[in-house]
Formats: sequence, C-alpha cells, structure tokens
Amino acid sequence: MTMKFYSTNNNKYTVGLKEAVRLGLPEDEGLFMPEEIPQLPDSFFTDLGKLSLAEIGYEILWPYVHREVPDDVLKSICTDAFSFPAPLVKLNNNIYSLELYHGPTFAFKDFGARFMARLLGHFNTSNKNINTILVATSGDTGSAVAAGFYQVENVEVIILYPQGKVSVLQEKQMTTLGGNVQAIAIDGNFDDCQQLVKTAFMDKKLSEKFGLTSANSINVARLLPQMLYYFYAYAQVSSKNKPVVFSVPSGNYGNLTAGVLAKKMGLPLKHLITAANANDIVPHYLSTGNFEPKPSIATISNAMDVGNPSNFARLRTIFNNSLDEFRSEISGYSYSDEQTRGTIKQLYDEFGYVADPHGAIGYRALTEYLVDNDAIGVFLETAHPIKFNREVEAIIGLKIAIPDSLATVLDTKIKSHPCSSDYKDFIDLLEKLLS
Ligand SMILES: *Cc1c(COP(=O)(O)O)cnc(C)c1O
Repeated sequence: MTMKFYSTNNNKYTVGLKEAVRLGLPEDEGLFMPEEIPQLPDSFFTDLGKLSLAEIGYEILWPYVHREVPDDVLKSICTDAFSFPAPLVKLNNNIYSLELYHGPTFAFKDFGARFMARLLGHFNTSNKNINTILVATSGDTGSAVAAGFYQVENVEVIILYPQGKVSVLQEKQMTTLGGNVQAIAIDGNFDDCQQLVKTAFMDKKLSEKFGLTSANSINVARLLPQMLYYFYAYAQVSSKNKPVVFSVPSGNYGNLTAGVLAKKMGLPLKHLITAANANDIVPHYLSTGNFEPKPSIATISNAMDVGNPSNFARLRTIFNNSLDEFRSEISGYSYSDEQTRGTIKQLYDEFGYVADPHGAIGYRALTEYLVDNDAIGVFLETAHPIKFNREVEAIIGLKIAIPDSLATVLDTKIKSHPCSSDYKDFIDLLEKLLS
C-alpha cells in the first residue's frame, strides 16, 4: 500500500506523497501527517551502528516513499543529500554535542532542504511540472533552501525574510546565489513573512498558476529526513546502559517533531527536551496546559524566534491532544539572551567548546534536565558558531575561523527585493518576479 498523508485538521482529507510534497500544506490550513507511523524491524536496530547517514536515511524513509519513488532513486537521493558528516562530540561522560552544521549552509536545515530539493526535482522531471518554492524564513531556512534548490530544474525559489532581523551572513547566503533563487526582504517580522506565505497558499488561483509549494519545515519532505540523525547519534551512545535523551533547540518545532516520530518508529529514546529562547510558547504550554501563540520576540538565537510554531499541530495530533501524554514525552525549558550568553561562556570555559546561541540553549536545557534524571544526553548543535560570530566572539574573546566557502559568499553583494508586509504589495511583486 502507498503511504497516505492526512491533514491535522481533517483525517479524511488524504493525499499521496507526491501531492503532499508539491502542495506543502493541505487546503484546510492543517499540516500533512503520515497516516501510519511504520515500525522499523529489530534487524535494523541490530545493524544501526554500522550504517552511514545515507544508509540510515534510506532505511527510515523507505517506508514512507516506496512505491512512489523507485528504490534506486531513493538510494541516490539519500547518498547525494546526506553527503556531509554529523560528528558527535563528547563533552563529558553524560553529555554530547551532535554537530548538525557541517552541510553547505552550516545549519541542520541542510538535511531536510537537500532531501526535499532532490525529491521534488525527481517528481518534476518525471512529469514535467514547474514548481515555485515559496518560503518564509527567520534566518537559516532561507539559506538552506536557497542552496538546496539552487539550479534544481523546473523549480523556482522565492524566499521571504524579515528585513534587518537576520544576520548579515544569513542574508548573504540567501540573496547572492541568483539563477532560480530570488529573495524578498519584508518590512516586518518572521510571523508577517509566514502569514504572507500562508495566505498565498490559500489563494487557489495563484497557487495553481505558479505551482506554489512550501519548503518550510511544514513540508513532509523536510520533516521526515530530520529523523535521520537521532538514529545515527543514538547508535553511538546506546552501549552505555543508560537511557538516552535528546535536547532540541526549537523554533517552529519541525526538528522536535522529527525526534518524536523517530521514537514512534521504534527508536528507544527515554525522553525529548525542547529548548526555547524567550519565545517560550511550548514550554509555557507544558507548564500551564495553555497554548498561547504570541508575536515573536527578537533574540540572539534568531532561528527560534517563532511566536506561533506550526508543528505544534502535528505534536498535538501525535499525542492525541493529551497534555499528559505530551508531558510524559517532552520537557520544556526556555532561556533569556543573558542566560544564553552565560552558557556560551560556560561551555567555552569548561570544555573549550565553541557553541552557537541555539546549541547553547540546547545544552543548558539538557543540563537542567539531567539534574533530576540519570541519562546520556545529546544536544543538537544546529548552527555553526561562525553564523553568529559577532555575538559568540564577543563572549569568548576569540576569533572564529571563517570556512572557505563562506568567505566567498561574504564578498558578494546582497541582492533582494524590498516589500511591505501588505498582501497586495507582496502579490504584485511576486507576479513581477515570476513573469
Ligand atoms: C531552524 C533552526 C532551529 C529551530 O528548528 P525548528 O525545527 O524550527 O524547531 C534551531 N536552530 C537553528 C540554528 C535553526 O536554523
């Protein structure tokens, strides 16, 4: 049977993989979820420690995509997409940093974006469609999507980012490629960008005209591959006869949702920790039972400045709308910028480890959880500290070496199109850019 994907707003509304990937969002404003969470066989776990990232990717994604994607195509997509390392760095006996930033744009979003780009490229080449990727970013999604989809045939990319609210480096990464990638600087915050994108998707005529699809973490083709590194890291720490927990710096909650799905597929994790900045919507939900989206607050961990996390709808569905179930699987913590800076300094002083603000928040939440729980903890280091060098260098008093590929980007001039957060202005510009 082919895997179907249903909307979190209506479980009778189902589509196949290709449609879920091409649409991005269901028409009813829900999010697509796999109809069934497949169980991995025991033999997979026996061999897990011997598999490469690409091999694990193939095994865990196969149950979701087979029949719609030939096995050899899936294999080559995985080999190509997951071609960079994810080192697990030991800080002490109980704490590891899983560095997910060794891809082309120096953030973990490369995993999902590269997989989705190749999958969509495969679907479009086989039936000669054109798609326009419309994506809202608070920083890192934009650069990962730009790099992932750059020069993929039959795909145009439009990136919306909040003017002045992303780092210079992030802005350069998403505005300097050219070709099929164009960027719009919105006079507003991330939530305004996300709202424009959502409204455009609901606009059926527009959506059909340009074959709009989303590459945000809301797209299942971004979401599912992110399970990969939970399996990969687990295999390396699981021999220690202690339960294993992961701490996930969270913004739109795609990464955490992938961890939850990995667990549901059979990965024997004890618990997951969500680590937030001042945008503490989910930790607040965990402590009070109230989900109260708010306008986002700007912080130094800007990729997590999300006031209305989309993937909460998926998490809630997975946990059967039960607060108790949610709490039994996830603990949440949130930290201020001052605390984040203190933690970056502490990590450097104690371990000589240079963390970016997101990873630092992940580490801090993990240590807080480990005070009352005996476990091996892995925190996800989601961005290269060079992406936040001004902040980090000021704290640790040391210059971070710039990787070569970034040096080139930094020398290139920013080229983006300014736009207000008014929907009509945005659509006028979009028509112009795509004509
Ligand atoms: C996107 C991002 C996050 C948040 O990930 P979500 O899946 O949106 O929760 C955390 N850290 C960095 C560096 C990111 O780019």
